[in-house]
Amino acid sequence: MPLRLAEDWTGDWCDLNLKNISVTARRDGKPIAERFGEAFFTRAGIGGPIILDISREIRDALKKGAVSLHLDLKPAVSAALFDKRLQREFAEQSNKDFRNALGKLLPRTMIPRFISLAEIDPGKKCHSITRAERKKLLGLFKDLTFQVTGHEGLKKAIVTSGGVALKDIDMRSMCSKRIANLYFAGEMIDLDGPTGGFNLQVCWSTGYLAGVNAAQPAAG
Ligand SMILES: Cc1cc2nc3c(=O)[nH]c(=O)nc-3n(C[C@H](O)[C@H](O)[C@H](O)COP(=O)(O)OP(=O)(O)OC[C@H]3O[C@@H](n4cnc5c(N)ncnc54)[C@H](O)[C@@H]3O)c2cc1C
Repeated sequence: MPLRLAEDWTGDWCDLNLKNISVTARRDGKPIAERFGEAFFTRAGIGGPIILDISREIRDALKKGAVSLHLDLKPAVSAALFDKRLQREFAEQSNKDFRNALGKLLPRTMIPRFISLAEIDPGKKCHSITRAERKKLLGLFKDLTFQVTGHEGLKKAIVTSGGVALKDIDMRSMCSKRIANLYFAGEMIDLDGPTGGFNLQVCWSTGYLAGVNAAQPAAG
């Protein structure tokens, strides 16, 4: 499921597809899950493949504590290296206003919000940006933090977890162990996997088995 976030400005970025980012979920500050790949913001929060995938862990964690989501927008480079990159950008554009200095680092849509989150005067010349200001900006690239308030629920879910217990199904035929001549397939079974086709494969494979076996003449 897509996730809802406390930050009410995610709609500003909802035309963006963030590729090759990493996301870490923390419950009460402790890391509980991590993914790498593609995500996008929605008006209410965040969605996309890695979010749908991590949402199961987050749904469970939300029952136990406060969950935050930490985005690393530049996971291929360490914080120290990216800090050097920021220093280089600011040195090359030393007489430019800060508001005009992020063009090579971020999609245009993200810049105004980044500037306000960094709490750096947009009219400040790059040569005057302090170390502390640069570190705060670095934190936004490497650890952009959101508070998760909930999820979008079944209506927006791409797969259900839960359903008929596996222990009650004969996996060779998909027949119920409890009720004769009752067969199960697909979503109704308590079986789900990460995004990427595993769930469709479950549906096709169990559907095939259930169909073939249900069509067999009843024994006796
Ligand atoms: C937006 C989206 C994206 C997805 N992307 C992926 C993906 O990339 N990879 C992946 O592996 N999985 C993906 N899934 C999940 C995957 O599509 C489902 O797991 C799969 O389609 C479920 O198949 P199913 O046959 O069990 O159920 P469904 O496809 O839900 O089929 C159930 C059928 O039963 C019908 N029905 C319901 N009630 C009755 C009734 N009372 N009488 C008669 N008919 C009824 C429904 O109309 C429906 O046609 C995605 C799902 C969504 C919604």
